[in-house]
Amino acid sequence: MTEAPVQTLQTPVPPKFATVEEERRHRKERLAASFRLFARFGYDEGVAGHITARDPEHADHFWVNPFGMHFSLIRASDLILVNHQGNVVQGQHPVNRAAFAIHSRVHAARPDVVAAAHSHSIHGKAFSSLGKLLDPLTQDACAFYEDHALFADFTGVVNDTSEGDRIAAALGPNKAAILRNHGLLTVGQTVEEAVWWFITMDRSCHAQLLADSAGKPIKIDHDNAILTRGQIGTSLVGWFQYQPLWNWITSQEPDLLA
Ligand SMILES: [Zn+2]
Repeated sequence: MTEAPVQTLQTPVPPKFATVEEERRHRKERLAASFRLFARFGYDEGVAGHITARDPEHADHFWVNPFGMHFSLIRASDLILVNHQGNVVQGQHPVNRAAFAIHSRVHAARPDVVAAAHSHSIHGKAFSSLGKLLDPLTQDACAFYEDHALFADFTGVVNDTSEGDRIAAALGPNKAAILRNHGLLTVGQTVEEAVWWFITMDRSCHAQLLADSAGKPIKIDHDNAILTRGQIGTSLVGWFQYQPLWNWITSQEPDLLA
């Protein structure tokens, strides 16, 4: 048996782009694919939920899903571009006010963040009602160990940017926040990363709800939780974890790229 060349064994890294147009196209395609994935995972709840991607040229503008369109139907060409005042500057659909109120402030507070994801997924919102952080119960949950925050202040639907500012302040430098009585919010340096954190965080909420219900789970100790976070909780790993999902959804639903 001949060995594979060393080059083919290297872990892929996010692509670099020659033009801003190429980068925008890439982000919009990942964003549309992510809505299809959210639909597959059952993260839709009527018209709630949004994922945003910062525009690569206009840093205070972001791409987001059209308000009221089901995640399973969204194509790259359906995404709308929203400016820092909340006006739709490209696209034919309105923006969800809560999407603007939360995401515009998170993008403003965190220049390192390219994408942010939020939905009313079942396990995320069930766990959020407990008003506590995730424990390091499993290898996967360690991605969030000392890297997520609790926004412990529910005051109705988020309709104004002052509440978005408070959520951004609670998020701090972390990759995720649990919005109490509401759901999860995750961020990333790529769309892929932010969406992967959302998916795996919802699953970690599910796992902890099951484990806490069944008995007294054993927590991973501090040193090993930190070590594991360094192994599976980086931006690059988050991006890489998304790649099989991208291949799966684009092979099954190629119309999302239109
Ligand atoms: Zn919400």
